[in-house]
Amino acid sequence: MENTQTEKLIIVGSGPAGLTAAIYAARGNLSPLVISGREAGGQLMLTTDVDDFPGFEEGIQGPDLMARMRKQAERFGTRFINEDVVSVDLKIKPFVIKTESLILYSDSLILATGASAMWLGLPSEKRLIGKGISSCAVCDGFFFKDKRIMVVGGGDTAMREAQHLSKYGKTVTVVHRRDSLRAQPALQELVKSKENVSFIWDSVIEEVLGEDKVTGVKLKNIKTGQISQVEIEGLFIAIGHKPNTDFLKGQLKLDERGYIAVNDETKTSVDGVFFAGDVADKRYKQAVTAAGTGTKAALDVEEYLEKLR
Ligand code: NAP
Repeated sequence: MENTQTEKLIIVGSGPAGLTAAIYAARGNLSPLVISGREAGGQLMLTTDVDDFPGFEEGIQGPDLMARMRKQAERFGTRFINEDVVSVDLKIKPFVIKTESLILYSDSLILATGASAMWLGLPSEKRLIGKGISSCAVCDGFFFKDKRIMVVGGGDTAMREAQHLSKYGKTVTVVHRRDSLRAQPALQELVKSKENVSFIWDSVIEEVLGEDKVTGVKLKNIKTGQISQVEIEGLFIAIGHKPNTDFLKGQLKLDERGYIAVNDETKTSVDGVFFAGDVADKRYKQAVTAAGTGTKAALDVEEYLEKLR
């Protein structure tokens, strides 16, 4: 369906970055339209207790935090479309945004589609995400105090996760599919120096065990074919993140890993198109930092639209 009205601002994505941008833009009278996506709320929807978001001294559940942010954005007049964006045309103005059922036009855009953690793709993994399986040690590590934890991956992310988790876990076992790590040497040394961290090489997870919560994993040594079982309570998948930018290919500059290339502050390579949050963040990836760039993007849009007048 075509809606011929041109919006002042469309925000794509509804995690902390997109919703914070919406709160600021709505309060700035831009009447933003948020395309919230089918995975509305972003990665915090996969997290249980959030203890590091300022303002919630007792902690808050990830989905509750996102519901509150959405209500706050609605309170100031933000409108929502609960669909995914299928494609965009950023080569013409106003920009064209196609969702699953709509064609929309907008003078400006904030891209806040985030990055999704890559998962192993096992059915048992899917069932236990949030029930002992996580992809964020900073978010969930605390809940595995004195527990047996496993980390999958051999890159910098896996080493950072293992380093962080070594502060909590009784044991932290890193499982890697090869016999050498890809991570930078300094990080490798740091992790290897931790007394409670050990490594299992040349191995992959065949199955995560447990009905309602993780109780262990079935491992396969890919050199010998040997199957073994290890009891654990926590499993952290750290095999990389993938920015959600497939729909942007050919429309604006992406870096070699698919993240939006940053021009200046929240500007992208296309005038009038801004970004917020993990879609351009290779380093921090925190709800608070995402919210922070959401604020910046909304203020940058305000200035951009002001100049257009
Ligand atoms: P990465 O470097 O791509 O490493 C991913 C790791 O996961 C690799 O060891 C890979 O194994 C393994 N892996 C991938 N798919 C797998 C699968 N299906 N099953 C089992 N293992 C799998 O990703 P990353 O660690 O997230 O790092 C991404 C980028 O961010 C890198 O450029 C890194 O330097 C940067 N980074 C930097 C820091 C820092 O502190 N400076 C922290 C985090 C990330 P193989 O080794 O066999 O391919």
